[in-house]
Amino acid sequence: MTLRLFNTLTGQLDELVPMDGKALRMYACGPTVYDYGHIGNFRTFLQIDVLRRTLKLLGVPVRHVMNITDVDDKIIRNAAAQGITIGQYSAPFEQAFFEDLEALKVQRPEQLVRATEHIPRMVELVQRLAAAGAAYQAEDGSWYFRLSSFPEYGKLSKKDFSGMEDGARVDLDEYEKDSARDFALWKAAKPGETSWDTAIGRGRPGWHIECSTMSMEYLGESFDLHAGGEDLIFPHHENEIAQSESATRKPFARHWMHVRFLLVDGRKMSKSEGNFYTLRDLLLKGYKASAIRMALISVPYRHQLNFTFDGLAEATSAVERLRTFHQRLISTNWPEGDTHSTAGDAQAVSEAAETAKTKFRAALSDDLNTAEARAAIFDLVRAVNTQADCGNLFRREIPAILDALNQFDSVFDILEDTDAEPTRRALEYAEQAGRQADVAPELLARLSLSDEAIEALVAERATAKKQRNFARADQIRNQLAEKGVVIEDSKDGARWKRK
Ligand code: AMP
Ligand code: ZN
Repeated sequence: MTLRLFNTLTGQLDELVPMDGKALRMYACGPTVYDYGHIGNFRTFLQIDVLRRTLKLLGVPVRHVMNITDVDDKIIRNAAAQGITIGQYSAPFEQAFFEDLEALKVQRPEQLVRATEHIPRMVELVQRLAAAGAAYQAEDGSWYFRLSSFPEYGKLSKKDFSGMEDGARVDLDEYEKDSARDFALWKAAKPGETSWDTAIGRGRPGWHIECSTMSMEYLGESFDLHAGGEDLIFPHHENEIAQSESATRKPFARHWMHVRFLLVDGRKMSKSEGNFYTLRDLLLKGYKASAIRMALISVPYRHQLNFTFDGLAEATSAVERLRTFHQRLISTNWPEGDTHSTAGDAQAVSEAAETAKTKFRAALSDDLNTAEARAAIFDLVRAVNTQADCGNLFRREIPAILDALNQFDSVFDILEDTDAEPTRRALEYAEQAGRQADVAPELLARLSLSDEAIEALVAERATAKKQRNFARADQIRNQLAEKGVVIEDSKDGARWKRK
């Protein structure tokens, strides 16, 4: 099965296969590390994670590069305001970004690259553009891209810039949606600003040149796929194409994937509207990282995701339901069954598992339809639970069901309960940042277990194990883990400790 993915450049679903016949080379625009990531950012990174996991599921090796923008207008401004270097300013946010990715189980790209570590290569690209007649230096020493030298400008965003004013310039990284201007490749140093002394003068790179440089450095001048949120189509990605193709005279990325924006309660997320959430905000409200992952990936990437707390509650129970189902499968002592009388049922369950797997792959191969992929697995859960409830589920059927479930989890990754750690880290952050007031009382209650209550649960778990009720025993272990209590089993019984 081959993945068919919408390509913003061609405006249709195109097959995504490695052009070198080996590995799929993809570049995703990473974060600008000037603040904590919000759930809109993570929707995009999670959908790119779904893409890379789907490719792997379909047997396509992936070479994924992501940049960290650690120099830009905002970072420079904020660092200057605090009287520290941009490195000192951005390092904690970069660290927080990695922690958040880990909490959400976003797989690390094969290569993570920082803008500030590639300045000489960016300078070379500007020089190459100048030699090709596509870049010029302005009076203040800044370098600009000459839009009139690239007639194909607008081919990604499908905007018609034929009537544009020649020579009009903009030195901002982001600008008005419909204005095409010669944009800054290299910004001359202003007094007091972070800058590098280079062959094209003292200054710093524009945002767009960073991504052209780093993607081509690690993936080659032409590669398979470039991805980001929909806001990057114009000007960022349009500008990347102009820069890269003017320098190399080769097609840049073949395929462009853009994730639609996340809205909160139907509105654009913004701090002033009071509907702006970082991952940490949600963890402090008591939501689990797995549920947030589930909520952010369940709506296919080309649909607008309207984030609501009802939706998050639904994702919480969906995760719970799947975990309980998985526990039930692996911890129940399923009957052998009489081969003659149960052959028909066994076949029905195995067929249901096969169908679920096929539908799951087919849905993901169809432009990453995560909603349908998820539904295929829930259909299976329902069918198997019904059989099990009437005593019609047998041991030999379990592997096929587990296989379907594992396939699902290779993309969704929510079965293993590792939710305690991100919550613990969020609480640590709340303490350091003086945000204790933002911790939900329910979360505190959940976390504040007395020693007696723990003893009682540990005893209940021992009884459950004796009765071979492993599902309940595991549930108690997880419940305690969530509150930072670990159980260690030994031949003298179970011991517990707080983490
Ligand atoms: P930034 O750190 O602002 O450069 O953004 C990092 C990534 O998040 C980019 O791919 C953006 O397109 C994406 N992004 C920003 N806001 C949202 C949103 N509300 N919904 C989805 N993706 C977003
Ligand atoms: Zn970029």
